[in-house]
Amino acid sequence: MDRHLENIREDVFRRNQGEAEFHQAVTEVFESLEPVVSRHPEYAEAAILQRMCEPERQIIFRVPWVDDSGRVQINRGFRVEFNSALGPYKGGLRFHPSVYLGIVKFLGFEQVFKNALTGMPIGGGKGGSDFDPRGKSNGEVMRFCQSFMTELYRHIGEHTDVPAGDIGVGAREIGYLFGQYKRITNRYESGVLTGKGTGWGGSLVRPEATGFGAVLFAQEMLRTRGAGLDGQRVVVSGSGNVAINAIAKAQSLGATVVAASDSSGYVVDESGIDVGLLRTIKETERGRISEYAERRGRGVAYVAGGNVWDVDATVALPSATQNELDAKSAGRLVERGVVAVAEGANMPCTAEATAIFQEAGVLFGPGKAANAGGVATSALEMQQNASRDSWSFEHTERRLGEIMVGIHDTCARTAEEYGQPGNYVAGANIAGFVKVADAMLALGV
Ligand code: GLU
Repeated sequence: MDRHLENIREDVFRRNQGEAEFHQAVTEVFESLEPVVSRHPEYAEAAILQRMCEPERQIIFRVPWVDDSGRVQINRGFRVEFNSALGPYKGGLRFHPSVYLGIVKFLGFEQVFKNALTGMPIGGGKGGSDFDPRGKSNGEVMRFCQSFMTELYRHIGEHTDVPAGDIGVGAREIGYLFGQYKRITNRYESGVLTGKGTGWGGSLVRPEATGFGAVLFAQEMLRTRGAGLDGQRVVVSGSGNVAINAIAKAQSLGATVVAASDSSGYVVDESGIDVGLLRTIKETERGRISEYAERRGRGVAYVAGGNVWDVDATVALPSATQNELDAKSAGRLVERGVVAVAEGANMPCTAEATAIFQEAGVLFGPGKAANAGGVATSALEMQQNASRDSWSFEHTERRLGEIMVGIHDTCARTAEEYGQPGNYVAGANIAGFVKVADAMLALGV
């Protein structure tokens, strides 16, 4: 990183103290940008990078709600509206006890570049709360969502800011949020949220899109080496929406997914994960992955508290959460012959892990490219809402496929153009940056 970038980065760190994940995300992008800023002095003149690191607006609010025993509970809500050069702020809401401003900023920052890479007209933002949905009743989740929206509604809108789901926020929560928005505003404004149920303005393929997209991205990377998913031994971490749909897609393309996990442990199923059973346990019953081993029976191992990256794989799809795959795990995966890694989650690999994969010549698809299928399909949902239309599964899936191939090719081409062939991290960071930077230049200060 040259002096100019280093100075800007230090300034960002100073102004955002204690936000480790945001610092990490900024550093990862800056490390790719030297060839761009030296080729384009106009970006420095307009302080584009400094402006990109400062969110346009940051909203923090109180979320009071009443639990089932009648007690008043307080959580903190966030919405960081990061960049609107390309379109309305767009990005998910995360409900998880680890959420604080630094997490929301890291996710919002990533989202700006990710959304640019999709080629769709969407800016970047992110939000959420430190609310822990685990163990809460349906009624508690509903009251929490209603209270959250009672503040958030004034900041969002189909042309302003369009939230969606993320960890802890699925179709159920989007339903409660949308219901409250509609109640308060008296507007059936379908395009204000994405990830809606298909019966009330949602898009087919949106639930599957992030996981499907990550697998399609891995497939495109493998194709550059004359390979495919057929016959690959895949390990997926997580067992949420992204993981489950990544498993389903990888297996439909001929791979065998041998492991999945949750925060309490992982399962190994050498004959290939039974997606139907996993869906029932995790989505319908909201249970633990240990139950998968119990119900699937013989030959399936459950490892409590273990590290899923101890399982050998030729393709790894980290699809749980940030910094879940460290240098040690990366070293082990390389040693045991991993050929491709595509990030289904946001920043699941630490910076050190990413470096190990890249130095070993492993195909590495960073989250902002590999997991962009979710938000891209959100943009397709907005398109359908705007035209009061709903597309078939086949049509929507074809559009998703085209977008993922487009993102792959953009990253590959950009990496090559800037002298780093095969480096998808550089390609994604540079291509995303240039797209947003040019729009910011055009729109003035
Ligand atoms: N939370 C997802 C992401 O990380 C999707 C966001 C959206 O659909 O707006 O990209």
